Amino acid sequence: MRIGVPKEIKNHEYRVGMTPDSVRELVAHGHQVCVETNAGAGIGAGDASYEAAGAKVLGTAKEVFDTAEMIVKVKEPQAVERAMLRPDHILFTYLHLAPDAEQTADLVKSGATCVAYETVLGANGGLPLLAPMSQVAGRLSVIAGAKALEKEAGGSGVLIGGVPGVAPGKVTVIGGGVVGAHAITMALGLGAEVTVLDRNVNVLAALSSTFGPALRTVYSTKASLEKYVLESDIVIGAVLVAGAAAPKLVTRDMIARMQPGSVLVDVAIDQGGCFETSKATTHSDPTYVVDGVVHYCVANMPGAVPRTSTYALNNATLPFALALANKGAVRALLEDPLFLPGLNVHKGHVTCEAVATALGYDY
Ligand code: NAD
Repeated sequence: MRIGVPKEIKNHEYRVGMTPDSVRELVAHGHQVCVETNAGAGIGAGDASYEAAGAKVLGTAKEVFDTAEMIVKVKEPQAVERAMLRPDHILFTYLHLAPDAEQTADLVKSGATCVAYETVLGANGGLPLLAPMSQVAGRLSVIAGAKALEKEAGGSGVLIGGVPGVAPGKVTVIGGGVVGAHAITMALGLGAEVTVLDRNVNVLAALSSTFGPALRTVYSTKASLEKYVLESDIVIGAVLVAGAAAPKLVTRDMIARMQPGSVLVDVAIDQGGCFETSKATTHSDPTYVVDGVVHYCVANMPGAVPRTSTYALNNATLPFALALANKGAVRALLEDPLFLPGLNVHKGHVTCEAVATALGYDY
């Protein structure tokens, strides 16, 4: 199959659909890969590294779309990219169609086969092509929180790991899923005193057996949330209620009673946030202060580390990209009941029930 990797054009997007290593795998399986010039610049992968992996470098996105049968990207196609899609194209990327009527209409009109990373299912539950970004965001959340605790950033001036003779900072993680578990790994690694709250006891049990007594696990209730939030230096919001906006678990009243200079990191901001005072921020201006408490609410945290994020994403997407290339979309999807839910739009029809319901398409 002929596979194309255009340069990402969404504002501040530095990731790329395929690393040179992924290209090499596809080429080794007998496929042809074309890459738009400079597509890998944001991750430090120059055209020469793609050529060395066996790709052909093309000058424009149009040449890539014209040449390829399958387009592999990171972000949803922008309007100019959607205009280049054909009925015989396979598009494999994040789509997030449910809140995006305009994009959905364009993909339906294109007739292309559009497979979304975010709706592919995992053998043990979960969303394997979303998980790498949650891992990145979870690990970054502690780094961002620790930086925000510094005096210059408006924080209380606590070093998260303490030093011998001085107690470490207290980190509370609300939600012990993928983001939460990776935040815990980093916070414990930095020497913080760490508590996790979740309303699923099985999640708490799994975390307890992974991290042992170094981690305090607490069942999440209004009372326990209040107790641990009020005594924390950093609170990390990492909850997810599938298909719903994040619940506002920490109220303005609680925030006003926290120690001045404490820090809230709302990773769940992409679902509306789980702190009452959260509003989305950007990497160029990531924090703001409410009632003396520093808020970090960046909605696309993995964008800060496009190199790690691209490689982590490729580790998860490559087997699926290979299946699409080796078998063609129809066989690859029909032979794998966990991959099939990834199909969102096919030959002018919306094929994902959640998207069809949200936007009023027949399903
Ligand atoms: P997940 O499903 O793996 O984990 C969510 C956890 O929250 C679950 O263990 C669940 O039991 C728990 N939970 C739900 N309601 C709760 C409550 N009331 N009290 C305590 N715990 C509760 O999800 P995830 O992959 O870890 O993602 C977490 C959030 O991070 C999501 O909102 C996701 O969209 C977001 N996210 C944001 C970024 C970013 O850049 N800001 C990046 C990746 C993920």
